[in-house]
Amino acid sequence: MKNSKNVLYNTFGKGAVDDLKLLITQKRLTSEDYCVFLVDEYFKNSPLLNRLSIQPRDRLIFVPTVEEPRTDQINSFYDELTSVSENLPCAVVGVGGGISLDTAKAISNLLTNGGRAEDYQGWDLVKMPGVYKIGVPTISGTGAESSRTCVMTNKMSGLKLGMNSDYTIYDQLILDPNLSETVERNQYFYTGMDTYIHCLESLNGAYRNAIGDAFSEQASKLCRDVFLSLDMKSSENREKLMIASYLGGCAIANSYVGVVHPFSAGLSVVLGIHHGVGNCIVMTAMEEFYPAEVAEFLRMVDAQQVVIPSGVCKQLSDEQYQRLYESTIIHEKPLANALGVDFKKVLT
Ligand code: NAD
Ligand code: ZN
Repeated sequence: MKNSKNVLYNTFGKGAVDDLKLLITQKRLTSEDYCVFLVDEYFKNSPLLNRLSIQPRDRLIFVPTVEEPRTDQINSFYDELTSVSENLPCAVVGVGGGISLDTAKAISNLLTNGGRAEDYQGWDLVKMPGVYKIGVPTISGTGAESSRTCVMTNKMSGLKLGMNSDYTIYDQLILDPNLSETVERNQYFYTGMDTYIHCLESLNGAYRNAIGDAFSEQASKLCRDVFLSLDMKSSENREKLMIASYLGGCAIANSYVGVVHPFSAGLSVVLGIHHGVGNCIVMTAMEEFYPAEVAEFLRMVDAQQVVIPSGVCKQLSDEQYQRLYESTIIHEKPLANALGVDFKKVLT
């Protein structure tokens, strides 16, 4: 296994978000020091804002979540921030789901590395440590809080790929399970299931190792506890899912995904379907590759009475099908992990 890095510091527990104040104060060394907050737009009028310790000289950007992060949007946030101040902020704080956490990671890296977001889509292209970054997840499942990437779509090239680098990892996390209480049930399931799916793909792949497996196995166990229980959103289950998400992100930093994620990425690039729900739609068609896991997934859907959309690819044009194929098959590493180097003979 290659040299692998994880998040340096975590605080965890109900009400942990109030630790942010002290953590940020430690970073504000002079009266000039300011922080950049990238906060999920859902919290625009929420009392949570008052608990983030935002000062008048700080910069607050509400991150829209209608679309997943685009490179041009990251660039425009960067341009906006650098047009106001030439000095770097002392911290970048991301608060929200995968969209906001990934946006904050990308901004932190761009601020010190310069250039455009698309310059860093790939592996280990970020050369300088980003601005000190603090992540505060408010919904659990993607593992964006602990992974070494931040997923962005370049609309010009059609590429959905993140800045995979050690510098993309958060320096500090605040894991407060109280924050996910307000998440709508279907969304809670779709995002939570991302962890379960990351892990099943890793555990069924060729590139396995003992550390990745240990993270995946424990995260899968927690997901089973949560999604096969009577109430996936109970206080205890929100706590468990937050840890499962964190461990799932660590797992993926030490392994690869498989067949589900490439198909889900295709749905995202061509039809704009969001990551979590896209994964769930794909899972319903994955029996050939992951029979036992698909059966368990369907039991979870049934236990939680959530709705998985169907028929999203009805009446597409040949051109759309072609683009779906191309934006799926481009994900060579995960597909080779799942199906071997001759994966194009399986996925014709
Ligand atoms: P999201 O950021 O897409 O948010 C989903 C919805 O939940 C949004 O409407 C948001 O406003 C809402 N929401 C968030 N917290 C809430 C709360 N506490 N109460 C009420 N509503 C709340 O959610 P996601 O599924 O966590 O993230 C998906 C994104 O993560 C995609 O862009 C995907 O590409 C990315 N992703 C990144 C990684 C990584 O390793 N970096 C891994 C997987 C997915
Ligand atoms: Zn995922």
